[in-house]
Amino acid sequence: MANFYCEHCGSKYSSVSSLTSGTCPRHPNGPSKGKHELYEGSEKPQYTCKFCGSKYSSIVSLTSGTCSRHPNGPSKGKHTPAL
Ligand SMILES: [Zn+2]
Ligand SMILES: [Zn+2]
Repeated sequence: MANFYCEHCGSKYSSVSSLTSGTCPRHPNGPSKGKHELYEGSEKPQYTCKFCGSKYSSIVSLTSGTCSRHPNGPSKGKHTPAL
């Protein structure tokens, strides 16, 4: 069965409907200010931040780090996985 991940926090769900019904602790609007949003890329052994190129072994660890090249400004947001 496929897994579905939130692009903001890396939470894993077995369906898109359950993913998007949950509140996201790392939502870009602020903690718990929005729902999890689907990461539309495939599962990979390594994930790359689309802004700075940092590599992490999971979306959870990638999105926990602050991005020095975030479009909102340096360290104004988290790394975001490239598809
Ligand atoms: Zn989330
Ligand atoms: Zn980054």
